[in-house]
Amino acid sequence: MSEDLRFENLALQEALQQTYSRNQALREKLHEDADSIQDARSEQRRLKGMLMGMSTIAAIATALTLHYNERTQKADIKIQELQDANEQKTDALSTLARRAQRYQKEALPMSKNSHVVSAEEKQLLIGSFEERVAILRSRLGNDYIDAILEQTNKPPSAETPLVIESDSEVSTSELREYIKGFPTEWIKLNIKKIRIHKEEFGSVNTYTRTGRAAGEFAIASDSINIYSSAIKGKYRITFDQTVAHEIAHGNDWVNNEKLNVQERITLLAKIAARVWSRDRFVSSYVESINHKDPKTANVRQCEEYFAEVASAYFNCPDVLNYKDFQIIHELVTKRDPNFNIEEAKRARVYSFSTNRFL
Ligand SMILES: [Zn+2]
Repeated sequence: MSEDLRFENLALQEALQQTYSRNQALREKLHEDADSIQDARSEQRRLKGMLMGMSTIAAIATALTLHYNERTQKADIKIQELQDANEQKTDALSTLARRAQRYQKEALPMSKNSHVVSAEEKQLLIGSFEERVAILRSRLGNDYIDAILEQTNKPPSAETPLVIESDSEVSTSELREYIKGFPTEWIKLNIKKIRIHKEEFGSVNTYTRTGRAAGEFAIASDSINIYSSAIKGKYRITFDQTVAHEIAHGNDWVNNEKLNVQERITLLAKIAARVWSRDRFVSSYVESINHKDPKTANVRQCEEYFAEVASAYFNCPDVLNYKDFQIIHELVTKRDPNFNIEEAKRARVYSFSTNRFL
């Protein structure tokens, strides 16, 4: 070999050697890169996993937020409803309080009137049974008194549940709750049915000629009829007074199943003494009662006076002269010794879920 070829060969060998080394270096580099790629891939997988986890959490958070918002809205509506109901009830109570105050103002000077008890009044209150019956006969007529004296109590009938019907916006369940705010014994035997009619009025009142009835008590069936004029556009007290007035009719000396003859005459005599006394409870309704037959007028005045003072006893007892208060209070607590006027009044006020009256 020539010298040149030998050199060339050497140079080539060296180049080959270098190429080989470079190749080796590249191979190592390639390995390193492969590792990096591997690392990057697993990092990518890990991040993907995290991302999926995070979007699941985000979805749950969105759902929870929606749910929470919905519940908050519902709670807001409920709070508003409760606030409205509360306001209405507060209004109803303050209306009652205002009425009571007004009545008290009117009643106070009346009860302060010095009052001389007439001989007739005295007889009606403390006379013998015969003396009382004699006065009642002369004032109210023999027919009326005979009917009371001959009245025998019906044998105690099986207690039928009170029938409640309503054609008005007041529901039967509200009315059932409302009635619980009266003495249990007053309702149990003496009232069989209460119905609220959609008609504005009942029949024409033949004793006053001034108006038609917002309420009626039907003696034959022990039923109370209430008409929509006691509700629509009226203060709550109108309804309260109307219902109490009619329930009272069912418990007077004629209709109260629990009274014996002595008790009937005693109750009537006490009321009659009040109707004709100067310090009587002044009800424009009772005062306006008129009839061509004075005895019939007296009968109606006694019956309506009783219903009016009983209604005041349940709704605004402060306005009553203690003499009227005492008559009703004794009658109520004789059979319902635990009856509490204020508790009963509250039960009636809160028996309606919304205020139907304003
Ligand atoms: Zn009446």
